[in-house]
Amino acid sequence: MQVYSFEEFKSFTPKRKTFALFGSSAAFSLSPALHNEIFKKCGLDCEYISITASPEELPEALELARQKLSGFNCTIPYKQTVIPYLTKADKRVSALGAANTILVENGEFYGFNTDGQGFSRAMDLNSVSLENKKILLLGCGGAALSIAFECALHGAASVTVAARSEEKALAFIEKIKTSTQCDIFSFSPLSTVCGSFDILINTTPIGMADTQDICPVNFDNLHGLSFVYDCIYHPPMPKLLKEAEKRGILWDNGLSMLVLQGVQSQMHWLGNDNYSDELISHVLNFITAKQAIERLHTVYKRSNIALTGFMGCGKTTVGKKLANLLNMDFVDLDQKIEAEQKMSISEIFEKKGEMHFRDLETRACHELNKLENTVIATGGGTVIRDHNADVLKPSCLIILLNQSLEQIEKNLSGSYARPLLQVPNVSEHIKSLYDFRTPQYLANSDIIVNFPTGTSDNARHVLMHI
Ligand code: NAP
Repeated sequence: MQVYSFEEFKSFTPKRKTFALFGSSAAFSLSPALHNEIFKKCGLDCEYISITASPEELPEALELARQKLSGFNCTIPYKQTVIPYLTKADKRVSALGAANTILVENGEFYGFNTDGQGFSRAMDLNSVSLENKKILLLGCGGAALSIAFECALHGAASVTVAARSEEKALAFIEKIKTSTQCDIFSFSPLSTVCGSFDILINTTPIGMADTQDICPVNFDNLHGLSFVYDCIYHPPMPKLLKEAEKRGILWDNGLSMLVLQGVQSQMHWLGNDNYSDELISHVLNFITAKQAIERLHTVYKRSNIALTGFMGCGKTTVGKKLANLLNMDFVDLDQKIEAEQKMSISEIFEKKGEMHFRDLETRACHELNKLENTVIATGGGTVIRDHNADVLKPSCLIILLNQSLEQIEKNLSGSYARPLLQVPNVSEHIKSLYDFRTPQYLANSDIIVNFPTGTSDNARHVLMHI
């Protein structure tokens, strides 16, 4: 069991080094999954649990933590509440007045704040430097404070704090100016924010739950953005990130910050700074996939994923990676038909004609719709027949890998043996087929994934759209 009420924690006996998350409603946190995956991957006999305690229960819960835990995290609303209990605090805790990581040693509490470091390492992961950048920071709460601190530490040129309350924002700016001795902060009302910025960071909850379809800013009033970061990760792609992607701007959600602040917490607890990029990428993919599979079943109520898109968009390559990450089976529709017909697609086209192949495709869609827990790479023409999309939709979430024509041409160069490319002017043919098919892909897909130039991990990028 990983989730404990305060009453259950009272009778909990640790069997190994145990760490925990304390919150007023910690039950749905991804933290146990991410920490336990790191322990497993590193071969550590440790355990991470979550404990829900009310503010009235917290003092007693912390006394029990002295005896039972080797360290813990605090989430809302306990990052400040825990401060008086600390024997010693690091520079970030002193500057921010909040601790999210506590090391328990000989019954003493040592406090750290790893939120900001999680954020700055998430920037590194996205190859984004804060140095000399004009930052637009939405919100002026706890997460904003940690992030503003990192912006100053990493040499940002300016930080514009956009918030709905001028009074709170000015108090925030005063506090961060004092703690960083940096004069790069200014205020803008959130509702009218405009201007030229390099990086936009959202720390407001706009985009969560009932505000999922609200974008906190008007992109038409913002210029020069090259990266957008949303601290929200549930849902994985709030409206802000959808709007960024539409405009070809690189983006990431708060899962990277969550995972990387967790890694930083473990460094403090275990004195181990040997977490490889490979491990971090594994854990990030693991958590992203965990969230995606839950949403596939609960939000979309489907059991399969069907990837669609123009030839060369990466359906097979990405499909195999997704199946691996999601622990699902993989079927390539073209390969299924080739195996059943004992002929290559080219031979089927040559000997029986395209219409016959399309009929085989429709039959295969009916069979695939009966599968469960499968990622399907459809053929480039599968959902061009509207009927095929209707056949697949009851069980499949249809995801369009919407690559640009330039990227498709790049991907296809050297593989012109495809049956539909046996024509004199291949380049012109690809363009007219692309222009003809794209509206049909768009109309027949549940989710459209665009790939801003520079997208580094296509499989994780796709998962974040689910
Ligand atoms: P917080 O201290 O409550 O701050 C929230 C900020 O958003 C405040 O400035 C608040 O303004 C503003 N805000 C709230 N509702 C708003 C609305 N409807 N319109 C405009 N502004 C609004 O919370 P926090 O701890 O900073 O967390 C903020 C977000 O970051 C949450 O979504 C949280 O889940 C996320 N987060 C993510 C990570 C991660 O690891 N990815 C870590 C920490 C936090 P007022 O003061 O005027 O209400």
